Amino acid sequence: MIVALAGGVGASKFLRGLVQALPPEDVTIVVNTADDIELHGLWVSPDLDTVTYTLAGVSDREQGWGLAGETWSCAESMDRYGMPTWFRLGDHDIGTHLFRTERLRAGATLTEVTAEITAAWGLAPRILPMSDDRVTNTIVCDVDGAGVPMHFQEYLVRRRMADPVLEVRYDGIGSAAPGPGVVDALATARGIVVCPSNPVVSIEPILALAGVREAVAGRKVRCVGVSPIVDGAPVRGPADRLLPAVGLEVSCAGVAQGYAGLLDSLVIDVADAGRARDVEATGIEAVVEDTMMVDDDVATALAHTVLEHLEL
Ligand code: GDP
Repeated sequence: MIVALAGGVGASKFLRGLVQALPPEDVTIVVNTADDIELHGLWVSPDLDTVTYTLAGVSDREQGWGLAGETWSCAESMDRYGMPTWFRLGDHDIGTHLFRTERLRAGATLTEVTAEITAAWGLAPRILPMSDDRVTNTIVCDVDGAGVPMHFQEYLVRRRMADPVLEVRYDGIGSAAPGPGVVDALATARGIVVCPSNPVVSIEPILALAGVREAVAGRKVRCVGVSPIVDGAPVRGPADRLLPAVGLEVSCAGVAQGYAGLLDSLVIDVADAGRARDVEATGIEAVVEDTMMVDDDVATALAHTVLEHLEL
């Protein structure tokens, strides 16, 4: 079994390729839940849903999140009443949140509910939330000279990354345990993959859970990552604001520095071939490849490259 550490959009594009390159039932995906948010009484797990919808082939590929052909009647109705709709939930998507929330209230764990949701979509890979406990990416921003902590979604979606970032916190991480099966999957994996996800708010919260970084660092198998930074910038999202906040350069070399001691190889984009030496200075082998996943064929070719370097 191969274990992939994953966020949402970047990870999902890659995972579409990985399940072409491997029997899908041989893939276990550990998904970030530190972006989760409670809205209107509903428990929303954006990365879990992005991975699920994308692997099920029902995601809005253009937008990168949500369901294709989604309708927005509920949000329009909420607008009428002046309810906050900065985090827009589509009508069909709301069904997922209703199910998750109801099951959690009935006492199921997030791991159990996630298994039920992925089974309902007929997915073969095992999808594990990183934790059943609540961990929250909190971005401390400079707002008029004062440090103001905000939920990651508020920083990203509501305020559109407008505020300078002072600090990134993982609230709850000290008392959160990795989800059942997470450390065990890492310990028994034939190979570990770090998806092209945001290193600060998608991958680090997983690694920061008790025992997870140790399980990756102490592995007896190979671990290969794909850089989410291409040509000195994220393909999309706020990584360019968050990497500097944790002292890392916005480049594939900065990504490598953040993963030093954890990765054997990092796949970097052809546009970054000139930075291969800087990557290798961190002790990580640089593998140069097309990483711009404009379609599933590129993602599948990239997955084959990753598998090659896992030396299975
Ligand atoms: P999020 O939680 O939905 O933001 O998703 P992730 O953390 O999984 O992915 C965000 C990262 O994916 C961003 O830093 C992007 O730069 C990266 N990304 C998105 N598409 C691609 C792509 O086609 N190639 C590469 N190399 N990175 C990508």
